[in-house]
Amino acid sequence: MCVKCEPTRRGLMRLAMGGAAAAIAVSGAAPRAWAAEHRRTFSRHIKPLIMLDPGHGGIDPGAIAPDGIFEKHITLSSALELRQELERTGRYRVAMTRVHDVYVALDKRVADAVAQKADLFLSLHCDHLPEANLRGASMFTLSNDATDALAASVAQDENSDDGPTGFMAGAPPQVANILASLETRATKISSLNLAQDLHASFKGLIPMLPDPTRAANFAVLRDPSTPAALLEMGCLTNPLDERRLRNPVQRRQLAERITLAINTYFDNEAQQRMAG
Ligand SMILES: [Zn+2]
Repeated sequence: MCVKCEPTRRGLMRLAMGGAAAAIAVSGAAPRAWAAEHRRTFSRHIKPLIMLDPGHGGIDPGAIAPDGIFEKHITLSSALELRQELERTGRYRVAMTRVHDVYVALDKRVADAVAQKADLFLSLHCDHLPEANLRGASMFTLSNDATDALAASVAQDENSDDGPTGFMAGAPPQVANILASLETRATKISSLNLAQDLHASFKGLIPMLPDPTRAANFAVLRDPSTPAALLEMGCLTNPLDERRLRNPVQRRQLAERITLAINTYFDNEAQQRMAG
């Protein structure tokens, strides 16, 4: 449950229970109110809190490169380097869903971000694609419908350890569906902005897949109140990408480009708040 959006969200729950979801979709009033609440909460923070989520860990190795390198080690190293880079700016507080090689369930990662009232959630992963010649990063946002078959298959891989108690498992299915679809326009727009900022920051410097900005139903992106993206930093199945992901200098460059994207994201959020 999102503490920072609690009052408005309770209202949405009541509407959902009463079968009035269509009214929300038509009027758009509730999402706007929610967005306003979100922005007010956002502005109370002296420094925005960024939750970094190194994918996999512990018994879940994630993708495994042909030479045996585990995705879980690369995501953790990358997240630790990114945390350092973000903290160096002096603009952010940074939290992580794991800082060791431990297993953390997907719903717990989301719950941690909600409990700590994260302003942004960024999940870090490495791709494992069927064709070894495919290479490059891609950035995903949440959607019930994947943009393409490849996006759907990536989400299926990344959700594979989403146990029987997935996020919102306690809610009646109708309510869970409505809450998911209410991933609020504000959150959705912010998430898309983040993905586009990452894309712009990488352009010409970090290899990317064709059409790298995609959407799919990732379990870790499902909190309706936290702008979130999942970054596939490269393909472990591609030798060039694998070398790049294992190289601390190139990982540092990646961390710098992600940090610049996050700076742009928050600069634009601040401008919108002033304009609104
Ligand atoms: Zn992964």
